[in-house]
Amino acid sequence: MNPYICFPKFKRMINVTLPDGSVRTVEQGTSPLDIAKSISEGLARNVLAAKVNGEVIDAFRPLQTDCTLNLLTWNDTEGKSTMWHSSAHLMAEAIEFYYPGVKLAIGPPVANGFYYDVDFLEHSISEKDLEKIEQKMKELAKEKNQFKRQEISKAEAVAYFTEKQDPYKLELLEGLADGSITFYTQGNFTDLCRGPHIPDTGHIKAVKLTSIAGAYWKGDEKNKMLTRIYGITFPKAAELTEYLEKVEEAKRRDHRKLGKELELFTFSQKVGQGLPLWLPKGAALRERLENFLKKAQRKAGYDQVITPHIGNKELYVTSGHYAKYGADSFQPIHTPDVDEEFLLKPMNCPHHCEIFKSKPRSYKDLPARFAEFGTVYRYEQSGELHGLTRVRGFTQDDAHIFCTQDQVKDEFKKVIDLVLYIFKTLSFENFKAQISLRDPENPSKYIGSDENWVKAETAIIEAAAEKGLPTVVEYGEAAFYGPKLDFMVQDALGREWQLGTIQVDYNLPERFELEYTGADNQKHRPVMIHRAPFGSMERFVAVLLEHCAGNFPLWLTTEQYAILPISEKFNSYAEKLSELLNNSDIRGFVDDRNEKIGKKIRDAELSKIPFMLIVGEKEMEQEHVSVRHRGFGDRGSMNIESFTKLVQEAIEDELSSNVKN
Ligand SMILES: [Zn+2]
Ligand SMILES: [Zn+2]
Repeated sequence: MNPYICFPKFKRMINVTLPDGSVRTVEQGTSPLDIAKSISEGLARNVLAAKVNGEVIDAFRPLQTDCTLNLLTWNDTEGKSTMWHSSAHLMAEAIEFYYPGVKLAIGPPVANGFYYDVDFLEHSISEKDLEKIEQKMKELAKEKNQFKRQEISKAEAVAYFTEKQDPYKLELLEGLADGSITFYTQGNFTDLCRGPHIPDTGHIKAVKLTSIAGAYWKGDEKNKMLTRIYGITFPKAAELTEYLEKVEEAKRRDHRKLGKELELFTFSQKVGQGLPLWLPKGAALRERLENFLKKAQRKAGYDQVITPHIGNKELYVTSGHYAKYGADSFQPIHTPDVDEEFLLKPMNCPHHCEIFKSKPRSYKDLPARFAEFGTVYRYEQSGELHGLTRVRGFTQDDAHIFCTQDQVKDEFKKVIDLVLYIFKTLSFENFKAQISLRDPENPSKYIGSDENWVKAETAIIEAAAEKGLPTVVEYGEAAFYGPKLDFMVQDALGREWQLGTIQVDYNLPERFELEYTGADNQKHRPVMIHRAPFGSMERFVAVLLEHCAGNFPLWLTTEQYAILPISEKFNSYAEKLSELLNNSDIRGFVDDRNEKIGKKIRDAELSKIPFMLIVGEKEMEQEHVSVRHRGFGDRGSMNIESFTKLVQEAIEDELSSNVKN
């Protein structure tokens, strides 16, 4: 008898390190999904993909070597995008079911869902066709069809799509190297795809195809226009319902819609795309925001400066902006002097460098802080323009701080204080700071000495920690000229916006040869810090509008009160009150229209006016007003002095600098 026959077959073992640091020793060829199962069945049911040594792969792929493993579920961004990418394949399968022979182009995941670009040939397709595709997707999802990965030679891949007569996939194949090509198949559908995909279609429990649009093949308008179908899927039906409610609420809060209703801003094709026109109420609102910030900045030691909207081309050649923005930006402006060229200002920084240079500086003058509401112009593609959030001309709440390397940390702390004050005053309660540092693998990419970088990075991390900011650190996200801190704000709908930035810069002081005289009597380069707490006035007003749904804080809102006389008899009493309030700098008006009180109340609510003052017989007799306060209900009857005090105290409270952090 062969003595080896009963000997178990030898399998190589590998070590898999989990995020908590624990190590599992498993047979080579074990999949992440197997490991999930060994932890718990519940976990395995939720695993959508796996991150192995930092790379996202199918959870069903066999592991071959020692590795780190992160099991990805719906709670991970990569888990979601794997699910949505797989949903694009599922949609393609459903489309082929109803429209056999259509040509498929590309179908990637996007921020909220996925799309597939399809050439429907002779078929015409519209919104009403989406429902049946959706139904088919749900049916196919229930089949729990597995996604199967197959490595395939280029020749076989070409043969497959030649047979299928799919010109788009064949064109995509042209750009791929042999040996790197994979197919993924689920149910009756096979796609050329790099993956990864979810284990099976059963994870997709709720489907909504959201819209249909035209899209050129490869984004080039010389190519054929394809049909792009957008959709989104969820692992639970309840999550889809919640998502759809949010979408509806977002539509109600769309700043473009609210901006029109509240008469804040408009656009004119004649003036030009992406160039907002601020209407009187919007201009007044913006002025209040600017004054608010100017006051806070004055307290924090900033000096206000003003610079022109254009600058000599040489200025931007020196700063490097010409090389960066030149071709994409606006064309130079020529003057009667043949050799003279000006550019619309894309950034305020070069101008502020010249202000720093306007006189000799000593270390005693530092930090120098120059602030400007500077309007800049950048050429954005017309397709990317969006309300006030993407425009071609906008005003930055800009400032540049010139300081010594040792002052960087303190300056960061001061800017953080300012930003937190702004957030508190405008009711942004959920935010975090993203700190962008160097890529440690690639130090030669960055300018400035290693010593200074270490100092600046440490200063930013410490400043954020000392201010108690919730932070995430991203390596490799720093600009080549310095590390930075960005504020990410969550609005009332949970959407994340990037607002203020604080950015260290070692580049411009070098390019402009900025210097100051140190205590040692030697010349030194200052560090430059760019910062803009709002980002731009346009973007900030847009985010604020959507965040508060147009219900601005009292100190900021257009009209703080409306006096609503019950009938014409009380109009003159109302006028008298209004005059008193306006004398106390409280903004508002008398609704003296010949309308029923119910209608006046409804209109004041629609205009989002915080205080309604109702006056009738009793109020006039007692020299009182009946006060209704938005969000607080009935505040009772009071005389005008008490009301004035109520408003003033509410504003003081909103603007008090007691930042909780
Ligand atoms: Zn794919
Ligand atoms: Zn700047």
